[in-house]
Amino acid sequence: MPKTKRPESLMIQAVKNNDLKKVTALLKHTTSVNDTDRDGRTALWWAIHLKSGEISELLVANGGELERSWLQIETGQNTLAEVIKNRGVSDLNRCKLFILTGAGISAESGIPTFRSPNGLWNHPDSQRIATHSHFVKSRKSVINLHVKLKKLMKEKVPNQAHFALAALEQQWLGDLLVVTQNVDNLHFKAGSLKVPKLHGCLSEKRCEACGRVSQWTTEDLDSAPCSKCMRSTPHRPNTVLFGEESHQHEMALRAAAECELFIAIGTSGMVAPAFSLVGLANNAHKIEINTEETEVSGLFDEKIQGQAHIEVPKLMKLLGVRI
Ligand SMILES: [Zn+2]
Repeated sequence: MPKTKRPESLMIQAVKNNDLKKVTALLKHTTSVNDTDRDGRTALWWAIHLKSGEISELLVANGGELERSWLQIETGQNTLAEVIKNRGVSDLNRCKLFILTGAGISAESGIPTFRSPNGLWNHPDSQRIATHSHFVKSRKSVINLHVKLKKLMKEKVPNQAHFALAALEQQWLGDLLVVTQNVDNLHFKAGSLKVPKLHGCLSEKRCEACGRVSQWTTEDLDSAPCSKCMRSTPHRPNTVLFGEESHQHEMALRAAAECELFIAIGTSGMVAPAFSLVGLANNAHKIEINTEETEVSGLFDEKIQGQAHIEVPKLMKLLGVRI
């Protein structure tokens, strides 16, 4: 008699095949991933490692869990500060740390948040113009909008939160990924060298033929042929327009799912993919730093209410970073 496949191997096979339809069908027969799939964690790991953001989000939404990290167990009912007080920082500064920064950190450097009443995208027509479909129809208007935003951001300088994160990058002993949703280059100006920009950067342009990213220094995007492929194909702003996918999305999802400590700074959590990043970090102790309660505050273990330029250096010092 042929052996019947166990439910978990069906799930893992479906994930390996990147078969969203099959995964959804398997989930319909259960209330959570772990009911159907006794090794739901494995399915989730496959989804993450096979770079299937859609499937990993589906598995998380249906109760898929990764192993609890030691920090998550230690923090339990305690704050991070209490854990550090009890056992010191030496174990902690080797843990996998993921940090997401959003508009709030740049707002304290004078850059209006995109969705605030005076925000960039609230300028008449900005939301309509900064879209992929509009770019296809009318490159010029999208480029003009970028030129305007670039000017607005040119003179802005980083604040103490950006500098504290640059110090962290130099000193942290464990895995670290700081990613930003911001299109300014304030992390870079503060000295950070490795901060992927989920939504691209206003000061960069990209060759549409070979994908080479370079600094956009003149108003004219196509002042010279691409220095890599030498073609005179047009360049485009290296930002992620509404309706486009972030190239950094999958990498950020994997790092968030694997981290032990997750810190979100100044992000409302409503801009994609911030929401899915918090949801995936379910084996991490999660801290939110924001001036106000957000739509996703409930997903965090600790909330620090305050301004980033004050609270971020304080938290970094607590983690043993010399500022
Ligand atoms: Zn090129």
